[in-house]
Amino acid sequence: MSVEKVLLASPRGFCAGVEMAIKALAWMVRSFDEPVYCYHEIVHNKIVVDRFIDKGVVFVDSIDEVPLGSPIMLSAHGSAPEVVAAARERGSYVVDAVCPLVTKVHHEVKTRAGKGFHIVYVGHEGHEEAVGTMAVAPDAITRVESVEEVDALPIFDKPVAMLAQTTLSHREWSEVAVHVKERFPDVWTPGRSDLCFATTNRQSALMTIAPQVDAFIVIGSSNSSNTRALERLAVEAGCTHVYRVNSADELPTDLSGIVGVTAGASAPEELVEGVLARLNPRLGVEEVFVTDEDEYFPPPRNIRELQSSIDMAITAMSGASILGTPGLDDRSLAASVVLEALSDS
Ligand code: SF4
Repeated sequence: MSVEKVLLASPRGFCAGVEMAIKALAWMVRSFDEPVYCYHEIVHNKIVVDRFIDKGVVFVDSIDEVPLGSPIMLSAHGSAPEVVAAARERGSYVVDAVCPLVTKVHHEVKTRAGKGFHIVYVGHEGHEEAVGTMAVAPDAITRVESVEEVDALPIFDKPVAMLAQTTLSHREWSEVAVHVKERFPDVWTPGRSDLCFATTNRQSALMTIAPQVDAFIVIGSSNSSNTRALERLAVEAGCTHVYRVNSADELPTDLSGIVGVTAGASAPEELVEGVLARLNPRLGVEEVFVTDEDEYFPPPRNIRELQSSIDMAITAMSGASILGTPGLDDRSLAASVVLEALSDS
């Protein structure tokens, strides 16, 4: 491998929703005896999931698999209302780590369906976010992801609204959205697109770098929608050599010239560091910033309160005064640090 230089996209990697979900699950692990159950992969990244499995988390695809009275976490992708209800019935303690941006789309689905609209939802078949969102109003929603599927839609006898999965690439969304608007000229759409800031920012950074590189490395799992969107976008931008890798071990050995590197929203920074070390560029790494990302989503209130109570109990048991004990400051705690601490403990 004779890589001359790396152009490193920024922002890349963990988004605010993933940061929140990882911290929330880590606190569940800290708070309860094994096993803690998690409905669906907490985020779509194998290394993150494996690290939690090592700590006794059991990932399930059905709430029926959870023994009665166990602690349950619901993943960042959002769960169907009946799944949330089943978890609350079955679990001893339930934390719903759904990203607030997904909750916003669930809310839009509920509101539009309640107002008598039929919703055309742009999303990937089988993706957990799409499945959970459609379950909010299954009789009032139809999923599409291609122009052909839009053409095949019937004429609805109701007004039509259009919503979308948060992690689509702008291109895959806009092509279908334009077609929906042609077929249903009066379609209602939200004031702001449902595509999330993290998805959009990572795509902008990639597009800034793509024209300058001989190859692009996209770090992330194959079941991560926003990672796959980055991969497709790099190809559409004209990169002839685009590689999606889970980690440095999967890098091709014949890379040369200038190489772009980015990471999907669920890929930890330690994977980026591993890739950069393996690429070992002769002229170093240049980070290309397109925007600062300072969004922050606090973990769900119940798990934050539980952590504060545990910390106070530990302080009191140690004989120290709980008066003046600083409250839990999760904002200054990075999920990458939490993850590393999990593997060290
Ligand atoms: S990619 Fe966007 S929608 Fe998905 S978890 Fe991150 S912030 Fe939320």
